[in-house]
Amino acid sequence: MGLEFTDHYIKLLFPPAGASWSWEDPTVDPATLRETLPRDQWPVMRTYTLRSWDADANTVDVDFVVHGDAGLAGPWAATVEPGARIAFAGPGGSWRPSPEVSRFIFAGDEAAAPAILAAVEALPAGSSAEVFLEEEDADHELEIPVPASGAQVRIHRVHRNGAIHGSELVRAVTASGLAAEQGASWFVHGVAEMIRDLRRYLFVDNGVPKSDVSISGYWRLGMIEDEWQAGKREFNAEIEAAEAAAGDQAAR
Ligand SMILES: Cc1cc2nc3c(=O)[nH]c(=O)nc-3n(C[C@H](O)[C@H](O)[C@H](O)COP(=O)(O)OP(=O)(O)OC[C@H]3O[C@@H](n4cnc5c(N)ncnc54)[C@H](O)[C@@H]3O)c2cc1C
Repeated sequence: MGLEFTDHYIKLLFPPAGASWSWEDPTVDPATLRETLPRDQWPVMRTYTLRSWDADANTVDVDFVVHGDAGLAGPWAATVEPGARIAFAGPGGSWRPSPEVSRFIFAGDEAAAPAILAAVEALPAGSSAEVFLEEEDADHELEIPVPASGAQVRIHRVHRNGAIHGSELVRAVTASGLAAEQGASWFVHGVAEMIRDLRRYLFVDNGVPKSDVSISGYWRLGMIEDEWQAGKREFNAEIEAAEAAAGDQAAR
């Protein structure tokens, strides 16, 4: 049995800094923590994609971006030892490559790579895909799987080489001219600033139907996940207002 969607995600639950509890204590459970402790002691959530799930072995794979010393999940993944305990909630998810579609375009950074690579593995027979993957540099290239169906995949590796996250990906995707294609299904996720620019490219500059596109910010430069999730609705509303204004301008 496999996963229903290729963008399934879970909420990993981390003890906050200075927590009076640990998952190493098998009697600790999330519901009791919330009932018995003040809010600043509750688990802190971080969102991660389920890259794969092996129901027989009762295991899941989660791929973490290690992005320095900041944060909870990245540093945890960099130092965690086999046998350590962690809790999670979920999964959620909503997208997989439709068998009705023959053309796919993926764009994302390393945080979105697990969802993109799971989708590449699940491409329908007879389809083709373009994969724009932003990576740190030539020494940090991710392995890209071959679709089981034999679908054709063209890979565009986009190296940051020190540029700001997302900027090189925006340049590569907008230079490709692919938004002019009709009927392609787009899956675009990663750093929020890149999402803002590619939304404009797709929806305002090229009139790609929103129903053909799965697009969202997975994280934001300079914000911890709690701040990004709290401001996400406002960020999206501002983008939509700017897109509507730009659309009106273009129609005049
Ligand atoms: C649906 C969904 C699925 C996701 N799947 C994955 C996944 O499979 N793998 C994965 O690695 N991430 C994934 N992410 C992104 C992940 O949730 C965020 O990157 C999260 O902020 C990481 O938590 P943290 O504790 O390491 O850092 P935080 O405490 O949240 O942030 C600390 C600092 O690190 C910066 N930062 C956060 N993420 C990155 C990054 N990727 N690169 C550089 N700087 C960063 C922040 O801007 C902040 O300045 C997903 C997000 C969503 C919404």
